[in-house]
Amino acid sequence: MSLMRLEGKAALVTGASRGIGAAIALRLGAEGAAVAVNYSGSREAAEAVVDAIRGAGGAAVAMQADVTDRAACEALVGRAVEELGKLDVLVNNAGITRDGLLVRMSDADWDAVIATDLTSVFAMSRAAARVMMKSRSGCIVNISSVVGLAGNAGQANYAAAKSGVIGLTKSIARELASRHVRCNAVAPGFIETDMTAQLNDAQRERIAAQIALGRLGAAADVAAVVAFLASDDAAYVTGQVIAVDGGMTFA
Ligand code: NAP
Repeated sequence: MSLMRLEGKAALVTGASRGIGAAIALRLGAEGAAVAVNYSGSREAAEAVVDAIRGAGGAAVAMQADVTDRAACEALVGRAVEELGKLDVLVNNAGITRDGLLVRMSDADWDAVIATDLTSVFAMSRAAARVMMKSRSGCIVNISSVVGLAGNAGQANYAAAKSGVIGLTKSIARELASRHVRCNAVAPGFIETDMTAQLNDAQRERIAAQIALGRLGAAADVAAVVAFLASDDAAYVTGQVIAVDGGMTFA
């Protein structure tokens, strides 16, 4: 990776111990950002991401916080500012699924997904916006999903949360543009992570057949687009949703 577009910038990535978040943290670190690697329970995995960033010559620190806890979100942003000296980039990536058909979906599964995938983005963005508005610069990248654009049978909770993230993204972009703070969303399609690991070969083939590029995505495919949005190359891009899905949805 020869690009060093994020040199001198400080970034905080939620849910960066595994999957897409880990790939984002690694990519931002490789492009020169100092990275706060947030995790909830996977301490060792988060430390491994930190070690990998440092091993490649970058700067990183692991920070535990459950993003469903609003006070913990405030504290996490505070810690990131304290340890990195400032906050230029927030990536709201932490997310879960609790799939089930609507008629059988429990209140607990609805509430857990809305709390983790939507309310956390509000709480983290609110805390970060206060910091970024003061410094009159910064950028927020929210990880939505193509499911938030198109809906999905068996994922009413997840689709609602991910659609909510898109509305939140556009509203934040409108509110903060005058302070030179940008906010965009990335909508991944099917990406190979723990979240999609339970798919069997037949399911994988069926999914790949619906993707113009004919394959599931890699976490690094998403990280590359996040790095672009976080960089000054995207200085004139705000309020946008970029699908990273190999050509599954054409909006
Ligand atoms: P993953 O492999 O399951 O990893 C989830 C990450 O989120 C982990 O680092 C986990 O940390 C963290 N996390 C979960 N709950 C948390 C909480 N309450 N507080 C803090 N961190 C928490 O998921 P992924 O596939 O990489 O997905 C990452 C994001 O991309 C999610 O928002 C997901 O909805 C979105 N996405 C994924 C796909 C896909 O195909 N994989 C497609 C579209 C969108 P711990 O391990 O420490 O709990």
